[in-house]
Amino acid sequence: MPEPEFILLGDAIWLDFVNTARGRGAAPPDRLPDPAAWDRWVAALRLRPDADELGFDDVRRTRDALSVLAEALDAGERPPAPAITLLNDLLGRSSGSEQLTRAGGEWQLRFAPAGPPPALVAVARSAALTLGDPLLMVRRCAGADCSLLFTDDSVTQGRRCCSPDPCGRTARVERRRGLLK
Ligand SMILES: [Zn+2]
Repeated sequence: MPEPEFILLGDAIWLDFVNTARGRGAAPPDRLPDPAAWDRWVAALRLRPDADELGFDDVRRTRDALSVLAEALDAGERPPAPAITLLNDLLGRSSGSEQLTRAGGEWQLRFAPAGPPPALVAVARSAALTLGDPLLMVRRCAGADCSLLFTDDSVTQGRRCCSPDPCGRTARVERRRGLLK
């Protein structure tokens, strides 16, 4: 069976997006080399195409900024300001309105989107949701040569690898030592 074009861990859309420039080996290929690849990625994630609103330069710029953001979160550092500015800029492209809704017997003021957001806005929203959840950690895989990023919301925050099977040489060594189950 041929290897799928994109690695989709399914943790968070924005990390699947950042992972298109990463992989399980040294010097992984860029899986978004051109606008056509971006279109295929958007289709694979079943997002709304946004080619008429945002250019491929925006896609590349956003991926670079979110990669820096993810690395900062993995390192336990404060999110870089340029990444937050970019996220807010993209979130500002959401169309919709505030609406009163009743939930659990309480009235709540909520933002109701007019429809599915453009793909890059959906990516930004995914990153914003991760940033807004203090229990959701972003981690880089512990596997040797693996640069993939994933989220860890386990109580122990003990997830180390991008896949259920330990990834790469480091993980295998740790498993032998009994550090990984
Ligand atoms: Zn890995």
